[in-house]
Amino acid sequence: MVLNDLGKRINAAFSELSRVPVVDDAAVDALLKNVCAALLESDVNVRLVQGLRNNVRSNVKEQLNDGEKASRLSEGQRRNIVQKAVFDHLVQLIDPGVEPFKPKKGKPNVIMFVGLQGSGKTTSCTKLANYYNKRGFKTGLVCADTFRAGAFDQLKQNAAKVNLPFYGSHTETDPVAIAAAGVASFKQAKFEVIIVDTSGRHKQEGELFREMVEIGEAVEPDQTIMVLDASIGQAAEGQSRAFKEAAGYGGIFVTKLDGHAKGGGAISAVAATKTPILFIGLGEHMTDIEVFRPQPFISRMLGMGDISGLMDKVQEVEMANPERQQEMLKKIEEGGTFSIRDWREQLGNIMSMGPLSKLAGMIPGVGQMLAGAGGGNDEESGNKMKRMIYITDSMTREELDSVGSLFFAPVKTKAIRAEQEKQLALHEAEGSKKEGKKPKVKVPVRMTARARRVAKGSGTSVREVEEFLMQYRMVSRMVKSMGGKAGWMKKMQGGA
Ligand code: GDP
Repeated sequence: MVLNDLGKRINAAFSELSRVPVVDDAAVDALLKNVCAALLESDVNVRLVQGLRNNVRSNVKEQLNDGEKASRLSEGQRRNIVQKAVFDHLVQLIDPGVEPFKPKKGKPNVIMFVGLQGSGKTTSCTKLANYYNKRGFKTGLVCADTFRAGAFDQLKQNAAKVNLPFYGSHTETDPVAIAAAGVASFKQAKFEVIIVDTSGRHKQEGELFREMVEIGEAVEPDQTIMVLDASIGQAAEGQSRAFKEAAGYGGIFVTKLDGHAKGGGAISAVAATKTPILFIGLGEHMTDIEVFRPQPFISRMLGMGDISGLMDKVQEVEMANPERQQEMLKKIEEGGTFSIRDWREQLGNIMSMGPLSKLAGMIPGVGQMLAGAGGGNDEESGNKMKRMIYITDSMTREELDSVGSLFFAPVKTKAIRAEQEKQLALHEAEGSKKEGKKPKVKVPVRMTARARRVAKGSGTSVREVEEFLMQYRMVSRMVKSMGGKAGWMKKMQGGA
């Protein structure tokens, strides 16, 4: 997933900070050293990284060292201040503070795409057209790429895949004339979103830029979007500057963030051009597109889930009961009791929402579960999840509302009993220190007859029922800790 390694490394740096006894300047410097090394390795520009280090350092040191208030801070509060500062500065890196363009209903919104050949421009045009069409905008596509043989057919095929009208010509060679005619005809037919795909070239050439400017003058776009291939690394910054000077685009569409791209180049491009990333491409399918929002993006990168991104997907598939889902997400966010019934509902929802691997990262805890279930293979994960649902179908109401303990019973052997008695005697001998608390002896558990009944009823095995319960427990634990993280996030957003 997107910038996964970066997220993991920053999280590791946070964990290290949580282990130091005193959060002093040296601890802050050590944390920043790790965070900055991770950013540099992800291709983020060295000046930006230095800037982040200096800003966080001065911001944090002031809060930790100056004044009477600082002297009253607990170590936990000091840690929160440092983590919040890093989080905020990471968000700042990708948030140029510009309100992103939103098309308006009931009027034509012309969106022009620019970018180098192979960046994913044609694919992204169609993804975006499909995205707006699904949200109720009457949408059409125009192919003004006369440079590349086959561009017309490619866009036409893509448009057919998502069932959208398309304008282009096999014979006309003037891209400006095609763009103008296409936009005019869609406007006349009262289309609300008109997306114009322009030519790409292998390099940033004068010819390409001249053509872009001319098409821009002819169609007067409400928004120009530059497509940026995440896999080009450090080169992203120079490329985005050159396009900015020539075409003056207002938004960036970063593609191929599903691959092994480190993604830091795109972050640098945002900072260099002060232009927001609007969408990201996460695969070759027409639905592999996501709205980009800085704060949830960083939150997800750090493994805290992305509730707003998930809600966006939920809206798209028009779930049968969106209010219930809202309620559930709120519950997850707040870390309430998460029963087997809740887990089964999540499984059902995930299955109805399409490619699992794309959604997993958005739901706190589920990414890890799926990685275990099918190793990222959608079909395998899907089958596994179906069997999990069958298991829950064979459970009684009482079982579904439980947290699963009635499926297990302790195994009490003679040896365990003897150990328990020994511990109890020791405990009593120690006297009143731990009064009221019985000593704990780890007791192995066995599956109860309920588990056998459920396995039989669902056509699965006791082993699978056990596995299901283990996975449920793992997710439930994560949901609980997510509650802690969500609380932590809220604290951070509202000031430590
Ligand atoms: P164009 O020359 O800029 O119009 O690029 P295309 O739209 O033809 O895309 C070039 C290649 O990149 C194609 O094979 C696309 O399927 C692929 N592509 C586009 N966007 C993405 C993406 O977000 N992820 C992945 N993995 N591939 C993509």
